[in-house]
Amino acid sequence: AIDVATFGETMATVRAEGLIRLGGGMRLSVAGAESNVAIGLARLGHRARWTGLVGDDETGELVLRTLRAEGVDVTHARTDPRGPTGLMLVERRLGELTRVIYHRSGSAASFLGPPDVLPALDPPPRMLHLTGITPALGPGPAAAVRAAAELDVPVCLDVNHRSRLWDRERAANALRPLAPHLTVAVASEDELDLLAPAGAATEEERVSALLAAGVAQVVVKRGAAGASAYTSAETVHRPARPVRVADVVGAGDAFVAGYLSGLLDGLGLAGRLDRATVTGAFAVATPGDWEGLPARSELALLDALPGTTLR
Ligand code: ATP
Repeated sequence: AIDVATFGETMATVRAEGLIRLGGGMRLSVAGAESNVAIGLARLGHRARWTGLVGDDETGELVLRTLRAEGVDVTHARTDPRGPTGLMLVERRLGELTRVIYHRSGSAASFLGPPDVLPALDPPPRMLHLTGITPALGPGPAAAVRAAAELDVPVCLDVNHRSRLWDRERAANALRPLAPHLTVAVASEDELDLLAPAGAATEEERVSALLAAGVAQVVVKRGAAGASAYTSAETVHRPARPVRVADVVGAGDAFVAGYLSGLLDGLGLAGRLDRATVTGAFAVATPGDWEGLPARSELALLDALPGTTLR
């Protein structure tokens, strides 16, 4: 049986050594918020399934091959000739400031629909992970998210607002109706209003409104300032784990993988948040969206003294 199933768009990514407009060296990989979470979970020993459409092209093969190599189940993923595999370009513009450029409009993934994802959720996984990116990709992906959310499966949703894909009003209109179906809601501090009812004005009010709507766990990410998790019974705050920043892209996805891993393992709220801040820190401390995510045996490495050599 599958522990966590997820679906969405996974793209080829190109990381430039310098500035993209100057040309030069680049490194090719793949990334997508949902598949980053799936890889994070698979590395921790959970059975993760990713479903999606990639183009009938070499970068699509790279996406599927990479996920397979990482131990992610791609039984229901397939190529679709209607569009190419999406492309994401990444450059370090200024110190820790990263610029991401997308070429995803009209991609194969934008043609995803309910018939592509529903078979991948039968038999039902222990959890379903959705992101607020998928409904922004087009009417088919939005319908797929709605249909999946309505299944009788515990759902985690990460708001993941992408302002290049849609504005905040459209995002809120699509995401707020999903709230009653969620078991876990994850958002950055500045994204919580896209999921909570329009009347709520502060984080406290937004969290309370979501808990009252039946969301069992609300998790708020605060980047280098850490994270908070709320249930109707408990509130936990955690600072971020201090690490030297190599690449902040993917921290949120790594964080979700850690949180869901803790949930699957039966950890309490504090234990889940602790694991989430550890996996988030791994993503930040290593280059790439997911490449540096920990295996289960590596979770304690952040506690090792600086300068430690593992022999
Ligand atoms: P992204 O969209 O880049 O994946 P996000 O905005 O969704 O990121 P963040 O809030 O930036 O998510 O990061 C998620 C978690 O990762 C944080 O709650 C924190 O635990 C960890 N994290 C983020 N930045 C840092 C940092 N500089 N140092 C240590 N941990 C960090």
